[in-house]
Amino acid sequence: MSMDLFGEVRRLVSMEEAARRYGFEPDRQRKIRCPFHEDSHPSLQLYQNGRGWWCYVCDQGGSVIDFVSRLFSIGPREAALKLNGDFSLGLAAGPARRLEARARQHAAYRRRQREQAFESAYLERQREFIDLRQELFMLPRGGRAGELLGRLDELEHWFRENPWR
Ligand SMILES: [Zn+2]
Repeated sequence: MSMDLFGEVRRLVSMEEAARRYGFEPDRQRKIRCPFHEDSHPSLQLYQNGRGWWCYVCDQGGSVIDFVSRLFSIGPREAALKLNGDFSLGLAAGPARRLEARARQHAAYRRRQREQAFESAYLERQREFIDLRQELFMLPRGGRAGELLGRLDELEHWFRENPWR
């Protein structure tokens, strides 16, 4: 499976996001001071929907990748990789790396599920423990009280074995 790294980066990172990430503050017309000429007045227009930028003074423009490439004096592929890294896009990793990332995500998801299951089991027993104690308090000694005490012991044991984490 091949991937169009340039196309994906252009699709995923807007000019405005990139400009802000690298220290520019677009004005209300989405213009910034051009870093490619001595600019006292914002003359570099940022466009939306992957249409890149254009500087009216330099009379030049390009994609978000061209912008980063020129800004950091690096090649277009390096610029695409930089954007991939700076915006954590997760592109450009080989198939093995992508599989690894997916396995990590899956493991994290399973861990969260186990934690949630534990928390609800814990809270349920805690509720039961409190209710039992209340009930026991109102019962005469012997008979059903013995049964409740047994269950309380069980619960106390469970809480010792399963500390809240
Ligand atoms: Zn310019």
